[in-house]
Amino acid sequence: MKNETKCIHAGYQPKNGESRMIPIIQSTTFKYDTSEDMGKLFDLEASGYFYTRLQNPTNDYVAAKIASLEGGTAAMLTSSGQAANFFAVFNIASCGDHVVASSSIYGGTFNLFNVTMRKMGIEFTFISPDATDEEIKAAFKPNTKCLFGETIANPALTVLDIERWAKVAHENGVPLIIDNTFATPINCRPFEWGADIVTHSTTKYMDGHDSAVGGCIVDSGKFDWMKYADKFPGLCTPDESYHGITYATKFGKEGAFITKCTAQLMRDFGSIQAPMNAYFLNLGLESLPLRMKQHCANGQKVAEFLASNKNVEWVNYPGLEGNKYYDLAKKYMPDGTCGVVSFGVKGGRVAAEKFMKHLKLAMIATHVADARTCVLHPASATHRQLTDEELIACGVGPDMIRFSCGIENADDIIADIQQALDNI
Ligand SMILES: *Cc1c(COP(=O)(O)O)cnc(C)c1O
Repeated sequence: MKNETKCIHAGYQPKNGESRMIPIIQSTTFKYDTSEDMGKLFDLEASGYFYTRLQNPTNDYVAAKIASLEGGTAAMLTSSGQAANFFAVFNIASCGDHVVASSSIYGGTFNLFNVTMRKMGIEFTFISPDATDEEIKAAFKPNTKCLFGETIANPALTVLDIERWAKVAHENGVPLIIDNTFATPINCRPFEWGADIVTHSTTKYMDGHDSAVGGCIVDSGKFDWMKYADKFPGLCTPDESYHGITYATKFGKEGAFITKCTAQLMRDFGSIQAPMNAYFLNLGLESLPLRMKQHCANGQKVAEFLASNKNVEWVNYPGLEGNKYYDLAKKYMPDGTCGVVSFGVKGGRVAAEKFMKHLKLAMIATHVADARTCVLHPASATHRQLTDEELIACGVGPDMIRFSCGIENADDIIADIQQALDNI
């Protein structure tokens, strides 16, 4: 099936007389006839449900749909994108280990890695998304456990050369983890380019309606953990907290990563997505291909309009000819990138603040990537504690406006921008 069809049908096929829509199993627990039946579940000898903190059928239907969309073998939902990225990395890196990550990533992920996970004893080296093969290689250490980057980075809109990064990761015996939030599997499938694990903040385009925070981790099933057994003892040696199971032998390349992540990390950290939120996520997934088309078409039209406007100083959109990442965007996302455009208006910070005040349709929000057009001036919101010099150093200039095109009619979005520019 193609992805448009999978968005409707993958993950859940009703049997005779069952509901067409996925059922919301709003239940914490599941009943068994005998203690032996339940014992088999605890030993991971049989598959089934016993407690929603570990697994829930509604979540599993939706996770299976996302696994299918990405072309992976297994997936799990998490309560947020933050939990997804934390679990994906912590599943293979622990105290005393090291991770190499692109410096061009979501601010929340950067804090998670650079502050909180450092406190847990994991070391991070951040490198440019444009790093050469030699520069990436130079960042590796004997205790490096994975390489991490974003397909299209939020908010810098850099595009990662996934195929090249995967090659360098594999030459060093570690998996490449890709946060595919902005592209979604409709526009890019990182596994086709060699990535091993994909993560999502489903809060963005996948849900798409500003209604449910969530995350997802998908495994390609391709990384051979046993080949590097010394590097990944958590997957390749018995788990004493789980009756001595060795995940890589019991569940193979296809299932080891997600099973360990569920049995250990979800069990201990409890960041499960609520079944009701998984239901909302599934509703969003059904129309994802249609919405992504409109987000991308609107992003392209808005970027082209801004690029030709005399009151605009600069425009950053990977789909814009002449953009530094145009060729990479065409390679990895031939059908379009995303609906997020960043730009600066002439007159710097003061003009940017005036511009924001005059917008009528575009709503000021610390969110991106949903049906409603929204806009943020990071220098006066998320990044307001930074000085102008610090803003420039982290790639978020004082004049930068992050504009997330919704799925309204492009003419209305452009008319709103036009009148706000006229009113500066
Ligand atoms: C928003 C976002 C996250 C964090 O996701 P939450 O659902 O807000 O926890 C992670 N990565 C990217 C690229 C994001 O845009």
